[in-house]
Amino acid sequence: MKRIAVLGATGSIGKSSLDVISRDKENFEVVLISAHSSREELERLSRQFPSAVCVFSGDTGGKEKLLTAIKNANACLIINGISGSPGLEPSLAAIESGAALALANKETIVMAGRLVLRRAKEKNVNVIPVDSEHSAIFHLLQREIFNHSASQGITREDFYNRASQGFMEEDIKSYLNNHVSEIILTASGGPFRKFSLKEMESVTAKDALTHPTWKMGPKITIDSASMANKGLEIIEACVLFNMPPEKIKVVIHPQSIVHSMVRLCNGALYTQASIPDMRHPIHDALYWPETKPSSLESLSFDSLTLEFEKPDTEKFPMLNLARKAAQYGALFPCAYNAANEEAVAAFLNGRIRFTDIPKVTEYALEADWSLKYDDLETVLKADNEARERALSFIHKLV
Ligand code: NDP
Ligand code: MG
Repeated sequence: MKRIAVLGATGSIGKSSLDVISRDKENFEVVLISAHSSREELERLSRQFPSAVCVFSGDTGGKEKLLTAIKNANACLIINGISGSPGLEPSLAAIESGAALALANKETIVMAGRLVLRRAKEKNVNVIPVDSEHSAIFHLLQREIFNHSASQGITREDFYNRASQGFMEEDIKSYLNNHVSEIILTASGGPFRKFSLKEMESVTAKDALTHPTWKMGPKITIDSASMANKGLEIIEACVLFNMPPEKIKVVIHPQSIVHSMVRLCNGALYTQASIPDMRHPIHDALYWPETKPSSLESLSFDSLTLEFEKPDTEKFPMLNLARKAAQYGALFPCAYNAANEEAVAAFLNGRIRFTDIPKVTEYALEADWSLKYDDLETVLKADNEARERALSFIHKLV
């Protein structure tokens, strides 16, 4: 029996996770579920998973209660499906508890990737990406590196432990540098792919909350429309796979069937594909490092059309702002994320226009975020300062 915790159980990732877990009651036991504002929904889930401790973190002292519950859960795998920056501290608590971390919460890596992966390595804990693109790359690169490691006499178990802690080991790093020419992230392009900049100026929150292929929580849906989501994912890929931003490409693929690609130096392109359903990467993370049969729908070629096009970086400035943040490193990615979160909240409240989101983020990034961090406090301080800077710009706009 694998003891599993699902953080953000009432959200889109949380519900998908509980669905996958429910399909294999012989192997999985849910030991902890959490929610933040959906008290009734959490109560309903607690009846469905009676063995789970339920934590509602939306009231006073809620955050501490959640962190303590994570540390005491004695889970072997913790799925983090919390949305946004509040996911960082639970991720660190999960690592401290010694559980493997199945990470949907990309903000954890964007805000404090170096710290998180260092702690994972020190605690000998695996970090398994669940974000579909990174799950795809993770599994593709692992197969590639595994062949190499096996030829060096490295055992399978040793290899898996090292690879999941961020591909940080020098020999893996140099192998990837020499053999992988690029990582290609696919992006649906969101609902405004065919809009002009002028048309994007007047879109409403309702327009932006309608995603063409994925059903997700509101924050990530807005980020998909502005392509900030792909921006966050460029940073996430750089950190997780130890790649410079120039080796991370983005291609628009409206059908969201191909989840990402890896191009090797000999020109061979490896792709990972499935129907767009987050239960696939969640399934892969739950059983990792093994590959188990899945009862989920598999991809059929009967009426399949796959299109690819170049992203328009002028219409979607969040892409290049993320590249800049990834290139500068240090606290720049954290500032990018914080400013974007404030801008998205202001857009959803009707205070700024959709096209103001990158302006707010650009302004926040103009400050100096070059301080190298090694602790949570420094990260949280920068997160706070970037929000203040973003808010000062938002006040000027309204
Ligand atoms: P949702 O908004 O659907 O769900 C978020 C979950 O987090 C809810 O359970 C919510 O509780 C909980 N939550 C919200 N705020 C807090 C807080 N301050 N403290 C603790 N818990 C909180 O989000 P998604 O499931 O869409 O996304 C979750 C994460 O996964 C994000 O980081 C996203 O980027 C990432 N991701 C999501 C994908 C998807 O398909 N949805 C795909 C790839 C990545 P409550 O409902 O009670 O408010
Ligand atoms: Mg993704």
